[in-house]
Amino acid sequence: MLKRADGRKPEELRPITIRAGVIEQANGSALVQMGKTTAVAAVYGPKSMYPRHLRLPDRAVLETIYAMVPFSTKERVRPGPSRRSIELCKVIRQALEPVIFLEEFPKAQIDVYIDILQADAGTRTAAINAASVALADAGVPMRDLVSAVAVGKIDGEYVLDLTSEEEDLTACDLPVAVIPRKEQVTLMQLDGDVSPEDVKKLVRLALKGCQTIYQKQREALKRRWIDEGAK
Ligand code: ADP
Repeated sequence: MLKRADGRKPEELRPITIRAGVIEQANGSALVQMGKTTAVAAVYGPKSMYPRHLRLPDRAVLETIYAMVPFSTKERVRPGPSRRSIELCKVIRQALEPVIFLEEFPKAQIDVYIDILQADAGTRTAAINAASVALADAGVPMRDLVSAVAVGKIDGEYVLDLTSEEEDLTACDLPVAVIPRKEQVTLMQLDGDVSPEDVKKLVRLALKGCQTIYQKQREALKRRWIDEGAK
């Protein structure tokens, strides 16, 4: 069996911590740690959309703003948008949109700010996990949460939840996001060269990992509501 540098089994997630309601002034927020990768999400809205000409008559606009803070990697990350961050904002938004009842809020906008405090691979998936808990924490009506994790293949073995070190060794990097109750995939990207059979098995592994993450997300929301109730 493959020996992973951090001692995990191939099909094992990194230690995962999720907290809801970490930012006082946001309508909803969450902190997600998957190993060293740390994402914080803050939701503002639904609120009236400005500028007005961008309003949609039949639904709210979801804005996802992903950024890595300058100290999140070994080399300082330059602030401001990059090709990569623009792509990530788009795929994160597309992963979340299917679960939100945007049609309940015509002419409104919902802003989701996601900052990566520490990056050790899997920042888009940690961002999705944090954003979906933050949206639920904000009371935004949702069909379900969205759970996400990346998978890869190292030395012929399928590997769950890659670290940066493992990203250098893997034959492919395949981040997946899913609506857990329906098992409906809302994000799937593939970087690398693997067979269709591999992709099937990798997605299956990712879906299994997502179910564990889903439980942790729900537990975080329950803890938040029980704490709030106790106040
Ligand atoms: P993801 O974070 O979703 O896996 P990528 O595959 O693009 O997305 O990035 C993999 C990892 O590479 C990041 O999690 C981070 O650890 C590292 N990385 C990405 N961009 C930078 C950057 N500008 N500077 C240093 N490290 C970076």
